[in-house]
Amino acid sequence: MPSMGAPRAAAIYARISSDPAETRAGVDRQRRDCRAEADRLGWPVAEEYVDNDVSAYSGKPRPEYQRLLADIDAGAIDAVVVWHQDRLHRQPIELEEFFQITDRAGVSSNVRSVTGNADFGTGDGILVARIMGAVAANESASKSRRIRRKKEELAAAGLPVTGGRRPFGYTRDQLHIEPVEADIVRDLVRRFLAGDSVKSLTQWLADTDVPTTGGGEWRTTTVRQILTSPRIAGLMEHRGQVVGPAAWPAIVTEDEHRRIVAAFSTRKRSGRRSPQRYLLSGGLLRCGKCGARLYSTPRDGRRRYGCLKGPDHGGCGRLFITAEPLEVLVSDSVLYRLDTPELTLAINAQAEADDRAREVADVIEATQNRMDELAQMYALGEVSRREFVSMRASIVQQQQGAERRLASLTRTDALASLSTTGQSIRETWHELNLARQQAIITALVTAVTIGPGTPGARGLDPSRVTIEWRV
Ligand SMILES: [Zn+2]
Repeated sequence: MPSMGAPRAAAIYARISSDPAETRAGVDRQRRDCRAEADRLGWPVAEEYVDNDVSAYSGKPRPEYQRLLADIDAGAIDAVVVWHQDRLHRQPIELEEFFQITDRAGVSSNVRSVTGNADFGTGDGILVARIMGAVAANESASKSRRIRRKKEELAAAGLPVTGGRRPFGYTRDQLHIEPVEADIVRDLVRRFLAGDSVKSLTQWLADTDVPTTGGGEWRTTTVRQILTSPRIAGLMEHRGQVVGPAAWPAIVTEDEHRRIVAAFSTRKRSGRRSPQRYLLSGGLLRCGKCGARLYSTPRDGRRRYGCLKGPDHGGCGRLFITAEPLEVLVSDSVLYRLDTPELTLAINAQAEADDRAREVADVIEATQNRMDELAQMYALGEVSRREFVSMRASIVQQQQGAERRLASLTRTDALASLSTTGQSIRETWHELNLARQQAIITALVTAVTIGPGTPGARGLDPSRVTIEWRV
């Protein structure tokens, strides 16, 4: 039920994510581009909504976004211009809420993005938005490359990475030992080197009521992180390599640290954890016996999913299924559902435009990181004022170049969508990376329940598999 007639009161929505280095300039650019787009469409702008320094993924409230939804609902706003769809929603659930509200208000066809050509006015447009929303959620979940890179740069400058979770065993500023936790770390290391498994250590921590620094439950991944971190041996790590002594005191010896890392790599080689990747490991699979989530759990070199017992999982431990035929069945069903030429064109066009915009955005972020690093070096007296000024000028130049490329990309998005080949998703499926395949599956499927198998049966019995479709 799209409203006909030109919009009378358009909203501009801009958002900047949580990285403090990204500054207000990002929001200002979004607002400028959105204004220009509204002008081009002939939509009068009634109101701007700007959420600054808030990440949609972190679950923090976005007051301006909420106000926008309320105004659409109340009929005060009848069109929305946003810089990119990912500024509006980073979680699929938010996208669904947005569709509901715009649909109810009859304004779903009046939503435009400056880049990426979002158009929620058609069924295909909504499905594409769902899929891209799922891809974005996926990327948020893996904690954006930008933030990771930033941490690496700080590590290289010889400083602790503050912000985020306090490391177990250290104080908030990460430069001093927290004595009670440090004792626990020493205990963990002793027990681990004596042969205790990470799983039993996790159980031990949970049983003794030691709190985690984040307040959550103990997981094997947390314990593994504490044990293998060079930090506890007073060592600085950069890009996975120990680069030298750190500014904080050690809790265990360097020798102990080396033995822990060696033990992990031996245990890993002996097949406990498989390096192979699992298409359906994102929480999609459910146990048909107890309802718990299934996990990847290889046996004898064969990839399997299974219902697992124990501290991390809490399932019945009595249901398993071979991974490959299940993955083929689920992807085939999804592809069958997706395989229309129109949809394929739309998805390819948007994916391509997004990829290119992201590449340039990466360059801009990388130069920003270099700038921060340079400022650190200057602050620490590692470069002179003259060196600082000349290096800064060259970084600024690179940054401006990338900004210009991003601006011109924005203008050519429409052309890019015309020039795509229109290969079917089925043909390109195997070239998509695992994250994108997973994102597409979760855009369409809410859950896959696996029923009990017949003992001794060969091959996959398709009647064991129940797919719940989102659309
Ligand atoms: Zn179960």
